[in-house]
Amino acid sequence: MSVFLDRLPPVRGKLLADEALAPFTWFRVGGPADALFLPKDEADLAAFLSQLDPIIPVTVLGAASNVIVRDGGIAGVVVRLGPAFGKVAAEGMRVTAGAAALDSRVSVAAANAGIAGMEFFSGVPGQIGGALRMNAGCYGRETKDVLVEAYALKRNGERVTLKNADFRFSYRHTEASEDLIFVEALFEGTPDKPAAIMERIDALKARRETTQPIREKTGGSTFANPDPPGTPNQRSSWKLVDEAGMRGARRGGAQVSELHCNFLLNVGDATAADIEGLGEDVRAAVKAKSGVELRWEIKRIGRPAIDATLEGYLAKDA
Ligand SMILES: Cc1cc2nc3c(=O)[nH]c(=O)nc-3n(C[C@H](O)[C@H](O)[C@H](O)COP(=O)(O)OP(=O)(O)OC[C@H]3O[C@@H](n4cnc5c(N)ncnc54)[C@H](O)[C@@H]3O)c2cc1C
Repeated sequence: MSVFLDRLPPVRGKLLADEALAPFTWFRVGGPADALFLPKDEADLAAFLSQLDPIIPVTVLGAASNVIVRDGGIAGVVVRLGPAFGKVAAEGMRVTAGAAALDSRVSVAAANAGIAGMEFFSGVPGQIGGALRMNAGCYGRETKDVLVEAYALKRNGERVTLKNADFRFSYRHTEASEDLIFVEALFEGTPDKPAAIMERIDALKARRETTQPIREKTGGSTFANPDPPGTPNQRSSWKLVDEAGMRGARRGGAQVSELHCNFLLNVGDATAADIEGLGEDVRAAVKAKSGVELRWEIKRIGRPAIDATLEGYLAKDA
């Protein structure tokens, strides 16, 4: 048992010290969590948070399909929600989904119940908690269009309800407090025939297969489009990246995708620093070419690796 774990409240789930995070992330990069907490259920998570020293940072990860975990790992406690948070149930035109449910499961459950409007979820490879945080969406629909309300735990463990308007959603962004851990959401759609909805889901999946590198080690769209959807002559990030000559550009083991140049790839042995550095190369090239400052859509979290020279210097002193 590590010294850090000894200072954390008791749990019914699992608490692991120095646990590698890279295997959980889509990019397959990044350092360990000081502590990884896999709560048994919501009561376990709430009790842990209520007793945890407020000085200790808490980070929650979903499917980690939209993050670069930096090479030095994440300080404090990383929370990953397990099966107890993965339930999905449909009633009438509404779907209740746990924050750890995969978005694609929610789209299929809705389709089977004859609820239209959630087809877009089938194209987002994350979990519902990540969808709430990112206002995930595709092909003209996003989380805000179907969300009624969501339930979250505050940093002190208290459960709160957020109505759709409380999120102040915008393109791939919400104003909901960063320290909330979403645990469940309620969505609403409109009636349609299950077969018709499934057909639209299949079409959406097929379109995605041919236009995005969905089987690679990636983090999805790297930069948010600079103009909100619906803007006349909307500029796309991928177009700006292409015009800046960055399609296929490389840094270490990281590469800008040839198929969709708003995607960065780990093409083998990339570090998080390679991927983030390549992203900054792209931003600089786009700024120089078109004057646009691209905004990172991917969340970059955690500590940079300790510089090898500094590490050697500190070891010598010890
Ligand atoms: C191949 C590929 C294609 C993609 N296509 C799309 C697309 O079409 N549209 C789109 O919108 N996105 C897309 N993405 C990005 C990504 O799938 C979405 O942003 C998704 O919503 C992230 O969910 P996640 O569970 O993976 O979140 P993570 O990547 O784990 O986390 C993202 C953020 O959400 C927070 N978070 C996660 N869970 C919770 C929780 N329970 N409570 C509070 N905060 C939480 C994290 O702290 C972090 O800040 C794509 C990604 C990939 C790899």
